[in-house]
Amino acid sequence: MIVMKFGGSSVADGERIRRMGEIVRTHLSRNPVLVLSAIGDTTDHLLEAAGSALRDRSVSIHQIESLHLKTMNELGLGPAVREAVHPLFVELRSLLTGISLIRELTGRTRDYLVSFGERLSVRIAAAYFESAGIRARPVDAWDAGFLSDANYTFAELLPETWERIPRALGPVIQAGVLPVVTGFIAKDETGNITTLGRGGSDLSATVIAAACGAEEVQVWKDVDGILTADPRLVRDARPVESVTYEEAAELAYFGAQVLHPRAMQPCMKTGTPVLVRNSFNPAAPGTRIGTKPEKKTGPVQAITSRQNVTLVDIVSTRMVGQSGFLGKVFTCFADHDISVDMMATSEVSVSLTLDAVHDLAGLQRDLSKIAGVEIKTGKAIVTIIGDVHRSSEILQRAFGVCSRLGIPVQMVSQGASKVNISFIVDDIQAGEVVKGLHKNYFEEPEEDGGGEK
Ligand code: ASP
Ligand code: MG
Repeated sequence: MIVMKFGGSSVADGERIRRMGEIVRTHLSRNPVLVLSAIGDTTDHLLEAAGSALRDRSVSIHQIESLHLKTMNELGLGPAVREAVHPLFVELRSLLTGISLIRELTGRTRDYLVSFGERLSVRIAAAYFESAGIRARPVDAWDAGFLSDANYTFAELLPETWERIPRALGPVIQAGVLPVVTGFIAKDETGNITTLGRGGSDLSATVIAAACGAEEVQVWKDVDGILTADPRLVRDARPVESVTYEEAAELAYFGAQVLHPRAMQPCMKTGTPVLVRNSFNPAAPGTRIGTKPEKKTGPVQAITSRQNVTLVDIVSTRMVGQSGFLGKVFTCFADHDISVDMMATSEVSVSLTLDAVHDLAGLQRDLSKIAGVEIKTGKAIVTIIGDVHRSSEILQRAFGVCSRLGIPVQMVSQGASKVNISFIVDDIQAGEVVKGLHKNYFEEPEEDGGGEK
């Protein structure tokens, strides 16, 4: 069997759901299990509705209800489906009324609230499949075996889930029925609805695939796969044919719009390939994420950048030959609950990067007690994901590009995962650097020589 996951934009309206139907039909012989997100931006709309209930005591499900009714109309679905989803609208309205009265939105209530998005989308999609002659059944995640802890808004699945999923879905598949499962949600042991974090339906799909021993997971999005660079920066960015799980995780972490690293973990364990495909362009082959890349071409797979980074420079002459200095530095970061992304050290200094979202006054005060501290904002991390065995060539070419552009590189680190080379430049220079690197690695690969080969 295979797992096919369609994200919000791939089920955004009647037309998109029809297209999904065509794609699913071509894979029916492979016994697919479907995992769906909420329709379009429904999750955001639900959270906005809760905000209004909380702030203004205004209870309205108009936007959500009309989008779903419109979608059912576009799909030509009859009154039976409307009746089937009606109780969900009633329940949703009561919940919002409750929120407006109590004026409180706990994590538990928030998860219950956003669950309506996925619960509606699978019911509508399954009804459409039936109307199109494909036997299908909507399945809420808890009926598909998803059991989580009670860490609302970011729940972890319990280990039992792995056995429960094939037990729940196996008989449906064997009966020749297409299970259409809600992504993103689960229930805890007391029966409360939980969510796996925003974007969590990718994780739902990879867990089902890994638990059922699927041949592959197809994650259908609105881009042609993982791209060699951000297409908004680089016009000639193109899809990468295949990457390893580690490369994909690094790319996701350093700013590429791909799968969340957490979503890759289940398939990494079992070696199940993950295919990122474009539901708006099903003819495109997409990107394959797996244990080993199918075939490598150049030294570099992709380039990403992350803006708005802060660089912390910590200098201490006392660090020379001292033990425990780094320990003290990291304790300061831990005390202020600030996570560090990149770091580079010398005998007398440590440079670290963080996201610019933190208030650093307290950290600076504490660090100043042990060393000289300088905080520099407005930086960007440029990350190159490539073949570690060719790192000298990659670095030589990268520095060549920066030097020709007259852009000083301010810090360099080669990740321990060995697929990631990152460096810091000024935020405003990042676009130019990414364009220059892309040109060098992908558009005119041999021109630069790349040293001895
Ligand atoms: N609908 C949820 C969200 O928007 C989950 C998902 O789409 O993966 O975050
Ligand atoms: Mg979404």
